[in-house]
Amino acid sequence: MNDKSQTETTCPLCGADNQCAVAAGRPAESCWCYGVQMEGEALEKAKAITDAQCVCPACGLPVPTEEAP
Ligand SMILES: [Zn+2]
Repeated sequence: MNDKSQTETTCPLCGADNQCAVAAGRPAESCWCYGVQMEGEALEKAKAITDAQCVCPACGLPVPTEEAP
């Protein structure tokens, strides 16, 4: 658990793969969070834990409202 690169790719909130492009060595423009409005609450929670890790899409994106088909 002391592997820094491993930590950087992990969501600080739920521990899942945060799918961060920067942590994976890819351009920030290719990251899922690029141009996405992250939820303030999730962002604040993550920052309270660490500012070196990105959150995963499940935590960072607003919960989609389910629409009846
Ligand atoms: Zn997460």
